Amino acid sequence: MVESLAKRSLRKVTPYAADSKIKGIPLDANENRNLAFKLNDKIAEAIMALDISRYPDPEAKVLKKKIAADNWINEECVIVGSGSDQLILMMIQAFINEGDKIVTPAPTFSMYGISNGIAGGETIQVDMGEFFSFDFYKFIKRVNKEEPKLIFISNPNNPTGGMVDREHIIKLLENFKGIVVIDEAYYEFSGRTVMDLVPYYPKLVVLRTLSKAYGLAGARVGYGVASKEIIGILKKVKPPYNLSVLDQQAAIICLQNKEIFQPSIEEILEERLWLTKALGSFPGVEVFNSYGNFLLIRLKGAKELYNYLQSKGIFIRHFNEGGSLANCLRVTVGTKEENRAFIGSLKEWMNTLK
Ligand code: PMP
Repeated sequence: MVESLAKRSLRKVTPYAADSKIKGIPLDANENRNLAFKLNDKIAEAIMALDISRYPDPEAKVLKKKIAADNWINEECVIVGSGSDQLILMMIQAFINEGDKIVTPAPTFSMYGISNGIAGGETIQVDMGEFFSFDFYKFIKRVNKEEPKLIFISNPNNPTGGMVDREHIIKLLENFKGIVVIDEAYYEFSGRTVMDLVPYYPKLVVLRTLSKAYGLAGARVGYGVASKEIIGILKKVKPPYNLSVLDQQAAIICLQNKEIFQPSIEEILEERLWLTKALGSFPGVEVFNSYGNFLLIRLKGAKELYNYLQSKGIFIRHFNEGGSLANCLRVTVGTKEENRAFIGSLKEWMNTLK
C-alpha cells in the first residue's frame, strides 16, 4: 500500500478543505471582490512587458522594497510567501521538529494545526469557551505548562472575529521563551497592528496577506516581518522561486495603487455593521463581534441554512469540526447587493420554519 510509505505524521493530517465554486455569490473565503479587478488592465500591461522565459527574482527585491517602505521596516526584515499559508508552513518547517509543540487559541485558522501536523508537531489548542473570548491568563498558564516552540495568534481571529489586546501580546513577548507569530491577515479591517514592535522583539513574527483587503487572493502573495535572525532562518526553508513573476508583478501594482482599496475597505466596515444588525434582528441568531471582513453566527439548524443558501447560489462557511464551532457559520462581508441577497435568503429560510 502506498499509504504505508507516506510520512508517519501524515496519518493524522486531514487536508485543508475549501469549496471550489464557479458560479454564485462566494461569501465563504473572506475575499474582497469589490475592486481588485479595476487593476486588471494595469496588471495585464505590466505582465505583457515581462520576459516569462526567465526565472522570477528569488528574492522578490522590488516587492520587498515596497513592503518595507510602506511599513517603515528594514528590507532585511521582510520575507514573501506564496500566500501567508506558505509562510505559516515555512515557520513550521524552520522551527518544529517531530514532537515539538505549538500553542494556539481555539477555534482558529486551521492551517496552523495542519502545517504543524505535517511536520509531526503537536498542536495544543486553548479553548476560548462558549463566547470565544480570549482569556489571557488561561492562555499563558497553558503556554507555561506546555513550553511550546511557537505560538500562533490570528489577530483578528479567523473564524471568530475577536482580537487579542496589544498589551497581552507584549506580555507574551516579554514572558515567553519561544516565538510569537501574530497573523494579521485581516489587519486592514481592524486597523490594529503590532508590526511596530518588530524592531524591539527579536522573537515576534507578523504575517500579512494581499488576499483579503487587497483583493489579490488569486495571485497568492503574503509577507512576513520579523527580526533579521528569524528571516535568515526562514530563508533556509523558502522554496527558491516561491513567487512567480506574475504574482510579484500583480502584488507590486496592487501595492502601488493601495489608495483605490480604501473606499472598499470603508464600505466593508459599514456593511459589517449593517450585517451585524440585520443578523442580530433574527430571533435565535447569535452574532459575534468581528474586527475582520467576516462574521461568525450561531443558530439552530446551521447546516440546514448552509444547504438552503447553497441551493440559492450563496456560499458561506460551515465548520465540520463540531466542538465549540457546533451550529456556527461564517459569512464574508460582501458587496451591498450580496449582503442583501444573503439576508433575503436567510429570511426566506426562516419563513420555511414557521
Ligand atoms: N491567515 C488567516 C488568519 C487566514 O484567514 C488566511 C486565509 N484564509 C490565511 C492566513 C491565508 O491567506 P493567504 O494564504 O491567501 O495569504
